[in-house]
Amino acid sequence: MKLIDPIVQFHAEIQKIRRDIHAHPELRYEEVRTADIVAQKLTEWGIPIIRGLGITGVVGIIKGGDSPRGIGLRADMDALPVPELNTFAHASRHAGKMHACGHDGHTAMLLGAAHYLSQHRNFDGTVYVIFQPAEEGGAGAERMIRDGLFEQCPMEAVFGMHNWPGMQAGQFGVTPGPMMASSNEFEVTVKGKGSHAAQPHKSSDPVMTAVQIAQSWQTVISRNTNPNDAAVLSITQIHAGSATNVIPDSAQLIGTVRTFSTEVLDLMERRMEAIASHTAAAFDADIKFDFRRNYPPLVNHPKETAFAVDVLTAMVGAENVNADIEPTMSSEDFAFMLQHKPGCYVFIGNGEGSHRDGGHGLGPCNLHNPSYDFNDHLLPIGASYWVRLAEAFLKKP
Ligand SMILES: [Zn+2]
Ligand SMILES: [Zn+2]
Repeated sequence: MKLIDPIVQFHAEIQKIRRDIHAHPELRYEEVRTADIVAQKLTEWGIPIIRGLGITGVVGIIKGGDSPRGIGLRADMDALPVPELNTFAHASRHAGKMHACGHDGHTAMLLGAAHYLSQHRNFDGTVYVIFQPAEEGGAGAERMIRDGLFEQCPMEAVFGMHNWPGMQAGQFGVTPGPMMASSNEFEVTVKGKGSHAAQPHKSSDPVMTAVQIAQSWQTVISRNTNPNDAAVLSITQIHAGSATNVIPDSAQLIGTVRTFSTEVLDLMERRMEAIASHTAAAFDADIKFDFRRNYPPLVNHPKETAFAVDVLTAMVGAENVNADIEPTMSSEDFAFMLQHKPGCYVFIGNGEGSHRDGGHGLGPCNLHNPSYDFNDHLLPIGASYWVRLAEAFLKKP
């Protein structure tokens, strides 16, 4: 593995920052302390910053040479509303909040890269280091874009990275095209007519109607979508009634839909609504159909993905780069950035969890798990990737 020596030597400092951020997790759009640390470090290292894009977002601007070209490197800063089970020294000091997705590590890796880039400036153009808020359900990436990220920071391409538990530390995974799914929520209310449960003939039973809808929805994926297009429709909540002898007047179906393309999503939403409204009509009931699109599918651009794979291969060797990783049905708001700019998002292996020394919560080291911890061995690996990527992209003439 060809890491960058000064970054490896800077490991202790970056690890200290990572663990400090881990101990002080902040939820979406509340990353005030974290953003202050980022801003303070960048300023200390002589990097001009922009604050306020996406409320708590911070962007560092590192110039090397006169080229008008630019590249964006993005990390997320927010934590999750998860009570941490770990008891090691850097465990969360904020009850009910935890860095259970490793965004503390993402922030630290990008800081490590920014430090090196500012000291060496071995590139021609501008590197924008983007520290975004609210990846966890707050669409912080979209908010930064809406606040003018790409106008204020003109860049040709933007790149992202997320740690991936289960993949060995020192390995990377990526694929061109769809890599993560769109995430969407539905909430469908069936409005029928309640009655005494002993007099069902006086009702139009919303429970039976909801059950029929739930069953029929399963045909959307088996009969309507192309078998080659992966998709998920999961009903995760059914609510109705409060007594054993009353037929209620309404019932609710709530859940999530995941797809790798907007076309499949359009089809699924259309079919779900048609099935729900026609089934309800058949049972003399009405529906209220509420379908919310949260994050779009994350689609890597082929050219930038090939570029990232070349950089990674030179750094860790082809045997440690899976350039055809299986896409995952989880989602990620970096997808918004890839709708505006070409770019690529990679997974960096976080290992199986053996990096957690004493005091971890004994549970699996999976994302969003209360025993999770970011693997500090990745800090110089991820930071070296950022630097090599920026230097190759903005290659000196
Ligand atoms: Zn997460
Ligand atoms: Zn995450």
